[in-house]
Amino acid sequence: MPELPEVDAVVRRFNQAAQNATIHSVKIERPGIVAPQLPAQFKALHNTTILAARRRAKHIFLDLSNGLTLHIHLRMTGNLYVLPDYRFRPHSARLWFRLTDNRVIIFEDQRAFGRIHIVTPADIEDIESKLGPEPLEPAFTPSVLKQSLATTRSPIKPALLDQARIAGIGNIYASEALWHAKIPPTTPANQLPANKLKPLHTAIRKVLQHAVTSAYAAYTNPGDPIESESFGVAVYDREGEPCLRCHTPIARMVQAQRSTYFCPHCQPC
Ligand SMILES: [Zn+2]
Repeated sequence: MPELPEVDAVVRRFNQAAQNATIHSVKIERPGIVAPQLPAQFKALHNTTILAARRRAKHIFLDLSNGLTLHIHLRMTGNLYVLPDYRFRPHSARLWFRLTDNRVIIFEDQRAFGRIHIVTPADIEDIESKLGPEPLEPAFTPSVLKQSLATTRSPIKPALLDQARIAGIGNIYASEALWHAKIPPTTPANQLPANKLKPLHTAIRKVLQHAVTSAYAAYTNPGDPIESESFGVAVYDREGEPCLRCHTPIARMVQAQRSTYFCPHCQPC
C-alpha cells in the first residue's frame, strides 16, 4: 500500500515528467474512480496545463491552469505516471489523460480503490484542515510532536497513525520509529517521557527520510512499484526474528486492529 514515501516518490517522478504538460483529453475507463463526480465533468480539464503536483500526507494535488485542482488518492494499489503513448497503457489503467504532446498520464489501480476528483480551493482547505503537521517539513519540531501527542492517552503507536495528529506516518513507519527510539508501543501518548521526545522526533524523520529515498529509487519502473517497505526495515513483519540490537526475538501485538512489531527487551511493555 502506498504510504507517504511512495506517494512522495510518485509526485516527484510525476513533476519531472509532466510539469507544464497540457491535457488534451480525458478517458475514464472506470467511472467509480471519479464517483460521485461524473465523467462528463472531467471535460473541464481539456486544454488545461498542469502547473505542478504536490503532496499533503498521502493526498496528491495536481494544480491546473484553470484554477481547479485534481485531488488523487492512491489508496491500496494506485499509481500515477507518464507513458510515451496511450497504447502502452496497462490493463489496470482506470483513467488516463492524453497530453497535447501525445504522451499519456496513466492512473493505474489494480484493486480500483483509488479516487480522482476535481476540487476547488475550499475543498482543499477542508481536506487539509483534518491533517496534522507534515513530519518531514522543517516546521515539524520536537515541540510540535509533543503538542500532537499531548492531548491523548491512547497508546503511542496508534496515536502516531492518527492523521489528525501527524500526517502520513503509516503502520510500518510507526513501528520502526518506536523501535529506533526504544519506546514501548503501549506507552500512553501523553505520558511519553521527556527524554524520549527528541529520540522519537529524530527516529520519525530518519525512518521516513530513508523510506522516501528508497521509494524514489524503487519507482524507476512505472506500473511495477517496489514498495519502500522492502528496504531496510528493522522490526516490521519480522516477528520471531532477532532484534538487530539485542537479538531478542521480535514480537507482534495488535493495537487498534493493526499489527505492531516491537522488541520486548528494547521496548518493554
Ligand atoms: Zn532489542
